[in-house]
Amino acid sequence: MIQFFILMLFLVQTSSAQTDSILRVSVVEHLLSNKTAFLTKSDYGPGIMRFISLHDDENTGVESAKKFCADYGGSITELNYGGGRNIALVIGTHQYAFDPNAMFSDQGLAISLRRYSKIMPKASVASQIRDLGRILINEYETSTVMPLITLHNNTQGNFDITSYLNTGYLTGTADSVYISKKMDADDLIFVTEKRFYDHLKAKDINVVLQSYNAKEDGSLSVYAQKHQIPYINIEVQHGHFEENYRLITEVYEMLKIMLASQEVLTLSSNNTFSKSTVNRQENK
Ligand SMILES: [Zn+2]
Repeated sequence: MIQFFILMLFLVQTSSAQTDSILRVSVVEHLLSNKTAFLTKSDYGPGIMRFISLHDDENTGVESAKKFCADYGGSITELNYGGGRNIALVIGTHQYAFDPNAMFSDQGLAISLRRYSKIMPKASVASQIRDLGRILINEYETSTVMPLITLHNNTQGNFDITSYLNTGYLTGTADSVYISKKMDADDLIFVTEKRFYDHLKAKDINVVLQSYNAKEDGSLSVYAQKHQIPYINIEVQHGHFEENYRLITEVYEMLKIMLASQEVLTLSSNNTFSKSTVNRQENK
């Protein structure tokens, strides 16, 4: 059973310039056994950039998006659960954990729970977690017209754009990979639409096009692709605030061009992918 409550719907009045720009904040609370997860949606007024942040310990993306939305409108939907990358639950004497970016399919959630928990929780717990994913998608109000834009941050040394190449641990996830010689490998844009990929590649931006054959891992990108929701993830290394803001602006400029030519409206139907699932590194 879905247990959630609209807690607050109010006008924010504070002294900060960025929060001054927020027109409305809505908070939805969802109970996961002993833990409460919060979905906070900050609405900055009319704007085409509508962001989602899933990982509670990734703040550079959220801070960059707040500045951007204060300038250009839009909204930010954040999942908050007390920090950390994974959501940890204690039920009785058992501890469970899962990656919130794996809760958008039964299969992906089961893999994540198995990976981060010593034993699997009862089906009712998994059901509560899946409900959280549904509530998030519902609160955000996904569209097959405008892209779902996520914000992620990574740390130096583990994941970067080369992880998607044939030699990387995410091989098979990408249809195509373009690596700019001018950018840090930790800073990239991950998309599900070839038009986004082509545009960003032409702008010499690190970009990855997700394969239609990407593994069903319960992630929001795979969910979006399956549901014909255009998807863009703007991801930078923790602390790369200015680069994060620049990449957000590049996506904004791209969408404005596509909106002006009405390309966004036909993105899903006109999408063409290469048949090969082998990663292609395309350097100039
Ligand atoms: Zn993340």
